[in-house]
Amino acid sequence: MKVLIDQNEINSRVIALGRELAQEYQGRPLTIIGILAGSLVLLADLIRAIDVPHQVGLLQASSYRGKSTKPGELFVNLDYLPDLSERDVLLVDDIFDTGKTMQKVMAQISEQEPRSLKTAVLLWKEEATEVDFGPDYHCFKIPDHFVVGYGLDFNNEYRHLPFIASLEGSDLV
Ligand code: 5GP
Ligand code: MG
Ligand code: MG
Repeated sequence: MKVLIDQNEINSRVIALGRELAQEYQGRPLTIIGILAGSLVLLADLIRAIDVPHQVGLLQASSYRGKSTKPGELFVNLDYLPDLSERDVLLVDDIFDTGKTMQKVMAQISEQEPRSLKTAVLLWKEEATEVDFGPDYHCFKIPDHFVVGYGLDFNNEYRHLPFIASLEGSDLV
């Protein structure tokens, strides 16, 4: 395993992003929505770095890998979502890869007609992006390699690592 971004680098970028977002959303009815499960570590750190009042909600986006559905088909669970009407919504995810997850989640959130809708991610694989937009805010751009840690998993392992690493020597890199 090779560390790509260490704990200190992540910490400073998340703090800086929190400050930027606090300025942007000062005096506005902000709701931050974390996309489970990958965003959970970033979400916990970011909301404590945003020094203006805001609400927090969650939704779940997961890819079906079962035999009965196409691989990679995306399922979005909105059961835990708070009311977003008249709210300025910031969607938070671990990584923006092809962008299809964010595109689908944004379409579903838009149906609730929030005041505004923006996106923030820890990592952006810009060269892998297949949609015609990118995240509004990102902490780091990374090459198109599979990474784990700081919320990102492989087979539900490694989420707890406080750094971002690539699984060197595995078939995944
Ligand atoms: P997208 O829909 O943008 O292609 O993919 C976004 C989702 O794919 C992320 O929320 C994450 O769950 C997963 N993903 C994409 N790239 C990586 C990666 O390098 N490592 C891990 N662990 N998950 C990834
Ligand atoms: Mg995810
Ligand atoms: Mg995953």
